[in-house]
Amino acid sequence: MKYVSTRGNSPAITFDAVITSGLAPDGGLYMPTEIPKYPLATIKGWKGLSYTELAFQIIKPFTGGYLSDADLKAVIEKSYTGFDDPKIAPLKKLGKDEYLLELFHGPTLAFKDFALQMLGNLLDYKLTRENEHVTIIGATSGDTGSAAIEGCRKSDRVKIFMLHPNNRTSPIQRRQMTTIDSPNVYNIALEGTFDDCQDMVKEMFNKPAFAGGKHLMAVNSINWIRIMAQIVYYFYAYLQLEPLPKSVAFSVPTGNFGDIFAGYVAYKMGLPINRLIVATNANDILHRFFAKNDYSKGTVKPSLSPSMDIQVSSNFERLLYDLHSSNGKAVAKLMDGFKKTNKLSVDPTVLTLARSIFTSYSCDDAQTVKTIKAVHTECNEIICPHTAAGVAAANGTAHDKNSPTIVLATAHPAKFIESMLKADVPIVKLPEKLKGIEDKPERFEVMPNDFYTVTEYINKNL
Ligand SMILES: *Cc1c(COP(=O)(O)O)cnc(C)c1O
Repeated sequence: MKYVSTRGNSPAITFDAVITSGLAPDGGLYMPTEIPKYPLATIKGWKGLSYTELAFQIIKPFTGGYLSDADLKAVIEKSYTGFDDPKIAPLKKLGKDEYLLELFHGPTLAFKDFALQMLGNLLDYKLTRENEHVTIIGATSGDTGSAAIEGCRKSDRVKIFMLHPNNRTSPIQRRQMTTIDSPNVYNIALEGTFDDCQDMVKEMFNKPAFAGGKHLMAVNSINWIRIMAQIVYYFYAYLQLEPLPKSVAFSVPTGNFGDIFAGYVAYKMGLPINRLIVATNANDILHRFFAKNDYSKGTVKPSLSPSMDIQVSSNFERLLYDLHSSNGKAVAKLMDGFKKTNKLSVDPTVLTLARSIFTSYSCDDAQTVKTIKAVHTECNEIICPHTAAGVAAANGTAHDKNSPTIVLATAHPAKFIESMLKADVPIVKLPEKLKGIEDKPERFEVMPNDFYTVTEYINKNL
């Protein structure tokens, strides 16, 4: 199994290189050259496997033999020991034929732990094998930063510098990063916006005088390992249903299109999915694409579901690649056009193909609040604002309502107090493992939005 760029103009690389890779040299994203396909009988035969046993089945073909079976099993086990539900990703019935897949039982209470625990452990495995070290530098508006820090805090081969906009993350999100007491974790609160943080990180990677010889690695949503790890829970969700239905729909709160793309890979692997519902908030670039063939850049609108507040969806290019039968030239042409005009549309036959499995929905803040309220009243369940967009999309789109619909519950509601207050539902408390986070000492440096100051600090600590 090799990995190639979605723009078709970079050398193929192997799995071990994919672990540390960001964008391919031609600006594309890495995709596996083959996606294994399983008969339904084989998939049904996996019923009863534990989460980690199933993860081994799903992930192994993508690793191209880089790890022995025993090593891969050990990496997987280690990645999911910090989860506080024995099922790792439990399925909860919400109503007739409607389910929630709870993906918030990991250390930072959001689904990003599924991928970043795995990435952290694979990275540590690779660095140990090669006797190497890396420096991770990232920018975060909240959730990704804490999940990335949790994923590599235990590795003595990784140092991680995480930039967040000072006073612009929620206090709980900041504390999830700054109360981590590990010597390899450095938090920088930049006096600026999230975009300033991102721009500064980009500049660091692009300045040879800084980046040279440092083994820098980015953490972002385009790393293939993250997609790969997320495929597993689509299979696991289906296999928890009793009896196994003919097919299922998934509704996925979506921002950068990573999570739902993992669902699309599961579908290509043979999982009987009849619909993938792209749930967006008011930042609806993806909804406009599926509804009107209009993928055009807007400005970010802050919402109650901040992890879905995006301008463009970085993993969308992977779908374009697959819809164009792995034709990198066609994708490169589309993406070049998008770079110039901030607009993209596809051939009508390609759109038809996309619509044969995807549908989409945009849920604004008012409907998010209404949905949280309704789910509490009708199902006695309190959901986070991202999950609410998923529920609203499941109810608001046309799909086969006689087969089960599974909504991905992407974060724990306790992280989003503002939404609970607005919806006037009882406030859910933080789970046991985060109790006391308000009293723990925080470690972070506030710094001006100045390249020299920040890089000097990083150099000093390397
Ligand atoms: C990151 C995130 C999303 C969006 O996932 P993508 O893979 O970027 O589409 C949705 N909900 C929550 C809680 C998240 O943290």
